[in-house]
Amino acid sequence: MKLSHVTKRYGELIALDDISAEIEEGKICAVLGESGAGKSTLLSAIAGMIPYEGSVERTGAVSYLFQSPKLLPHLTAGDNLKFVLPKAQWKDIGQMLEKVGLAGKENARPRELSGGEMQRVAIARAFLFPHDVLLMDEPFSSLDLALKKSLIDLTASLWRERRETVVFVTHDVREAATLSHRALVLKKGKLAADLPAEGEPPRDFFVTSALETSLVRALMTPD
Ligand code: ADP
Ligand code: MG
Repeated sequence: MKLSHVTKRYGELIALDDISAEIEEGKICAVLGESGAGKSTLLSAIAGMIPYEGSVERTGAVSYLFQSPKLLPHLTAGDNLKFVLPKAQWKDIGQMLEKVGLAGKENARPRELSGGEMQRVAIARAFLFPHDVLLMDEPFSSLDLALKKSLIDLTASLWRERRETVVFVTHDVREAATLSHRALVLKKGKLAADLPAEGEPPRDFFVTSALETSLVRALMTPD
C-alpha cells in the first residue's frame, strides 16, 4: 500500500498534511497520535471513504472497524453480524462471538450489552467481513486490560492464519508495540515518526519492547 502526499483539508484546518509512506502488504501497522492528530482521517482516506488530495495505491477488499461500534439497536448481536455479512460467513458467527468472549450473547440486543461487549460484536464483524485489508480505529480502547490482551492475541492469531494487511489506530503504546510490525506517529496531521519493530508480532505483553520505548519518546517529544 503506497500513500503519496495524502492531504486532507477541512476548510482552514489541515487534518492530514502531505503524508507519504509505504505500508507493507501482509503486515500489521499501528497508527498513534494525540486526539485530533488525524488518525481516523488517515484510516478513512486509506479506505477511500473521504475525498483527499494525493493518492493511495491499495488493492483488495477492505473491512473497516469504526471508532464507535455502530450496531443497529433493534437487531440482536447475531443479526447485526448477519446484516452485513455474506451468507457464506453466517455459519462462523457463533464461533467468532465465542472467540471475542461473547459466548451466549448472540441473541442479546445492543441495549442489553455493555460498551465493551458492543465493541467486541463490532470486532467480530470486522474479522468476519471478507477482506484483504483490515482497518481498525481504536478497536480495543474500551476494553479492560485482560480482555484487551486476549483480543490482541486473537488478532495476532487470525493475522498469522490469513496474512492480511492490517492498519490499526490506538492510543496505547503497549498495544501498538505488542501487535505491530511498524508504528506511524501522527502529530497535527503530519507524519512525525515511522518506527519499525524487530521480529514478528505478537510480542510479550508483559515485556517493554524497544518499539514501545521509541513510541513513548516519539509521542512525548514536543513539536
Ligand atoms: P484523531 O482520530 O487522531 O483523533 P481525526 O482524524 O478524527 O483525529 O481528526 C483530525 C482533525 O480533523 C481534528 O481536528 C478534527 O476536528 C478534524 N475533523 C475530522 N473530521 C472532520 C469533519 N468531518 N469536518 C471538519 N473537521 C473534521
Ligand atoms: Mg479518531
